[in-house]
Amino acid sequence: MSGPAHKDAGTVPRRGGLRRTLQGLSGRSRSANPPRVVAPADPLAAGADASHGVILYLEDICVSFDGFRALNDLTLYVLAGELRCIIGPNGAGKTTMMDVITGRTRPDGGSAWFGQSIDLLAHTEPEIAQAGIGRKFQKPTVFEQHTVFENLELAMAGNKAVWPTLFARLTGTQRDHIEEVLGIIGLSAQHQVRAGSLSHGQKQWLEIGMLLMQDPQVLLVDEPVAGMTPQETERTAELLTSLAGRHSVVVVEHDMDFVRSIASTVTVLHEGRVLAEGSIDQVQANPQVVEVYLGE
Ligand code: ADP
Ligand code: MG
Repeated sequence: MSGPAHKDAGTVPRRGGLRRTLQGLSGRSRSANPPRVVAPADPLAAGADASHGVILYLEDICVSFDGFRALNDLTLYVLAGELRCIIGPNGAGKTTMMDVITGRTRPDGGSAWFGQSIDLLAHTEPEIAQAGIGRKFQKPTVFEQHTVFENLELAMAGNKAVWPTLFARLTGTQRDHIEEVLGIIGLSAQHQVRAGSLSHGQKQWLEIGMLLMQDPQVLLVDEPVAGMTPQETERTAELLTSLAGRHSVVVVEHDMDFVRSIASTVTVLHEGRVLAEGSIDQVQANPQVVEVYLGE
């Protein structure tokens, strides 16, 4: 097991302690000398080590479907705390990239790391979610019969087995956390409203709130503003912008006005690899990007 080349670059000392411990614990590479470092009870729960400033490393990722290269030596780094937009024509590989990061699709080649110490290709989809990578799919999946508050409560519990007893024993800290998230997603006034009667945009925000209940280090959001009103789109841009810093946010989006309004670094994917990266002005002025979009 070796980390991405990028991690060894520069003068920052390599952070290999936890990784060595994990190697020591796996039967595959157990050595004669037991590791001296005591592993945390649950290494994944400790989250990613972003001490080099990078939270996601994707290097030379290849994914083929029946011989078709959906991702083609894709190399991409996401910095801790940044808000990154991923754009690109249909079929560019945006959703497949998210599938690789979240463990839903295994690449044929390449490496994917969550910070310094978590090898994404060595973990299952639930383990990766638990380690701190939250994903929001395009279609909102809130519990329509429950109130906004209850939805956040259920999301906090995560494990469905504890749901029946949950409502009876909410601590003050848990209540504070729910109220904080209600404020962030702008639904404090609607906390008693049944989720089923929210607008499409409000449901999307509630689902982002449900992810926030787990306090993920990385949030992946696929086409959040599809079907939203202009006001909802604007509010979503503010919401995602407000999450950066505390979280790293990766947004896949088609709506160029939306991408412009959140003014972050933009990565353009095309045919499974990075075509351009920079500010929205820089990528929109790039002749190759223009050509790809005109050809759509
Ligand atoms: P995007 O999200 O950028 O529109 P996708 O990642 O969904 O692109 O798809 C990239 C390419 O891979 C497309 O050509 C798509 O048809 C193909 N693809 C995606 N998933 C599968 C799959 N499960 N089986 C076969 N082909 C797939
Ligand atoms: Mg897609």
